Amino acid sequence: MTINIILLGPPGAGKGTQARRLVEERGLVQLSTGDMLRAARSSGTEMGQRVAEVMDRGQLVTDEIVIGLIREQLAKGGNGFIFDGFPRTLAQADALGDLLADTGMSLDAVIEMQVDDEALVRRITGRFTCGNCGEVYHDETKPTAQAGVCDVCGSTDLKRRADDNEDSLKTRLLEYYKKTSPLIGYYYAKDKLAQVDGLAPMDQVGADIAGALEA
Ligand code: ADP
Ligand code: ZN
Repeated sequence: MTINIILLGPPGAGKGTQARRLVEERGLVQLSTGDMLRAARSSGTEMGQRVAEVMDRGQLVTDEIVIGLIREQLAKGGNGFIFDGFPRTLAQADALGDLLADTGMSLDAVIEMQVDDEALVRRITGRFTCGNCGEVYHDETKPTAQAGVCDVCGSTDLKRRADDNEDSLKTRLLEYYKKTSPLIGYYYAKDKLAQVDGLAPMDQVGADIAGALEA
């Protein structure tokens, strides 16, 4: 069965981690606009340079850019998508509805991952990832077994995001509350919303999402 789902929640809620699980368990395609924008910036294109500054400050990039990125990916086709970090504004949500309808697809569920602000700050300021395989680590809660080496793939290319600092995080949280949190009501009204406790242990969150998708 093919499904299309949105993972919704503030920065640091664990969207990326759960998206990766869903990719492994269900063969869905993860569409992370954050990852796409980071790829664009490191490719050194003009668009990439424009968005880099905006991202590092913690602000949202324009709707046109991210909608364009998603449109390109959907055109490639796939057997079910996980939207991770998209949509983030009401305009993006409307655009996604149109894009899915144009390609004969529909949205099955929106999973809101709920986490309180204090936990977010703790999670994000200790976060680092493997540049090779994408595994996510944390200084306190999930360090690598051997310092500086990825447990999964052995790469030493471990990095921290430029926007994972306290100032940018404040802006990211504000952007979330101002522009993204209205999507909770939007999808509730469309009967698509399910909520899970993002502070539960990782496996529990995964099980809760699976449960929400059954229902
Ligand atoms: P997080 O959820 O941890 O904030 P993301 O990787 O999803 O991280 O996004 C990082 C940054 O990329 C955002 O702060 C924003 O600048 C930009 N971005 C990602 N997705 C979108 C989007 N849908 N609309 C606008 N900007 C986006
Ligand atoms: Zn790795």
